[in-house]
Amino acid sequence: MQRTSSNFGFSQALVEAQRCLSCYQAPCTQACPAGVDVPGFIRRFREDNIRGASEIIYDSCPLGCTCGTACPTSVLCEGACVLEQLGQTPIRIGSLQAFITASSPLEEPHLNEIQKRVAIIGAGPAGIGCAVQLNRLGIQADIFERDDQPGGMVNRVIPAHRLPAEPMETDLLRLQNCGIGFIYNQDINADKLNQLRNAYDAVFAGVGLAGENQPNQPGTQSTGVYSALDILQKDRLAALGYRTPPQLGKRVLVVGGGNVALDSAVVAKRSGAEQVLVIYRRSKDEMTGWESEYLEACSLGVEFRWLSVIDEIITYQDQLQAVKIGQMRFVSTHLGGRRWVERDSAIAPYTLPCDTLIFALGQTLEEGIQEILGFKGDSTLLPLVEGSFQMPVPGLFAAGEAVSGGSTIVACMSAGMAAAREIAQFLLSQDTEGEQHGQA
Ligand code: SF4
Repeated sequence: MQRTSSNFGFSQALVEAQRCLSCYQAPCTQACPAGVDVPGFIRRFREDNIRGASEIIYDSCPLGCTCGTACPTSVLCEGACVLEQLGQTPIRIGSLQAFITASSPLEEPHLNEIQKRVAIIGAGPAGIGCAVQLNRLGIQADIFERDDQPGGMVNRVIPAHRLPAEPMETDLLRLQNCGIGFIYNQDINADKLNQLRNAYDAVFAGVGLAGENQPNQPGTQSTGVYSALDILQKDRLAALGYRTPPQLGKRVLVVGGGNVALDSAVVAKRSGAEQVLVIYRRSKDEMTGWESEYLEACSLGVEFRWLSVIDEIITYQDQLQAVKIGQMRFVSTHLGGRRWVERDSAIAPYTLPCDTLIFALGQTLEEGIQEILGFKGDSTLLPLVEGSFQMPVPGLFAAGEAVSGGSTIVACMSAGMAAAREIAQFLLSQDTEGEQHGQA
């Protein structure tokens, strides 16, 4: 049974697969953070071996159906497809991958050869990638998840129109008998971490960026002012049938320039807002949101005000009424590769009436996570030993958004898999050390 939102039927998928040139040293594969053998799986599919095609995908990408559905393929595999350079439409690799994995779900084999156990914090892409790879290396992996279901931030905030529930269900279904433990409703605090460190041979932190940068101006607590993650979470739960949708107004302003801002704008527009404006302090060139998301927002009628900031939130009886918008301008200095901006005092602020204001100022680690894991300092991310997935405490590893500061599902999953290989080496080296001490 097909369990995906893939917009392909079998014959359509076959027509698409037949366009592939089976490139040598395929650029699509090189552009995939998981290194999925794209021409390989397409070739097997063309040979009527859909199971073999699915095996190739899952071998590199344990979240094959999820990634096929939600990856920004236009900047990854499809963006690198040679057909694009030949002036043709690139192969719709994501849709093909989603179709194949959903049409032929496989069971991950149950391997438990090595008497080692690793505790994984967080059932998001990094945690799942790490667990699958450890399992493939014969090491027991148990995932401790705060929610009552897996997926992490993916399952919390990606709008359902971009990622319905079915693709991840497909991917997780194949993990249910492989021996990976999923333990839900687990809040991790310092005591719990200590317990895990004592009970397991290593601990991997695959936590997502569940915190948000907060605006620090008066009025942010007023009715009508929201955090983007809050809106996206409520909208996803509503789309999956767990609650009523968030009630947004008719004139919605979204502050930010990343995917979360763009998702929020699209959600507002889809929920019936008459006007949705994205307010961003730089220009389109500096936006961190993907082009595909930007184009989708534009196609729905979302408008953009570049080089703009919120100067003041205007309320009446604690209810949002309007905002005052100030103008920025570029200065010549570049900082961190981005053009720097400063206030343009020559242009007076103007008032913009609105009934909903959504702040999407960037995600951070949830407060307290670093301390729980034993770190203090200025860093907003988890520290790693250079060139490694190991944190400065032996036996404690991390990968994914918590160390990269934000990335794609496929990149987080792949980082989790790479961390698992390093953890296996670490466990092996501990055994070797133990044996040498025993011989001494
Ligand atoms: Fe097929 Fe395009 Fe990849 Fe070449 S680059 S193997 S045409 S999908």
